[in-house]
Amino acid sequence: MTESITLAFALREAFTLVSLAGTLNERFTVPSIVGDDPRLPFVIDTANIARINSLGVRTWIQWLSLLAKDARRVYFVRCSPPIVMQANYVANFLGGGCVLSYYAPYWCEACRTAERVLARTTDRRDALWSNRPTRPCPACHAPLQLAEAEDECFNIARDQDPVEPPVFALALEQALAELATRPEGKGASGGSEQS
Ligand SMILES: [Zn+2]
Repeated sequence: MTESITLAFALREAFTLVSLAGTLNERFTVPSIVGDDPRLPFVIDTANIARINSLGVRTWIQWLSLLAKDARRVYFVRCSPPIVMQANYVANFLGGGCVLSYYAPYWCEACRTAERVLARTTDRRDALWSNRPTRPCPACHAPLQLAEAEDECFNIARDQDPVEPPVFALALEQALAELATRPEGKGASGGSEQS
């Protein structure tokens, strides 16, 4: 597993999207985005943040407070399970930002396959867990279990409820899909590696 962090960004008409991947640790520095319009909302995608340590948390909070100082609206999308856990335990971990979507971690007791399910803060919690239709393991079809306590997985949505999808929701979906497939250095977007 990589110990460095990579950052990719996309400047869109209605928002700036920043995607972080890797480990949020002492090597993480406050990102500076070139050519970003400070009037637009900032969308932070952490789908590929695999680990976080306390020094990474410190820089992360510093980053969010700088964005708040600039009166930037901040949205979080695809929060990875480590981000969800930190949000449970660290005061002000999300700053004044609004969570739009996050991953709930599941695993299969039978074959130990880990699986994560993308949840939106507008989703009903019971559709995801309580009274849920059984989610089958993609490998062996045994029923999946939640990998963490239910509250720890879903509390992130509780404080956000009810959340209206932003007007740029559709454009955001498109930008997230493109970030995943974008060749390096094309268009009004970019990336860097901090190591
Ligand atoms: Zn299985």
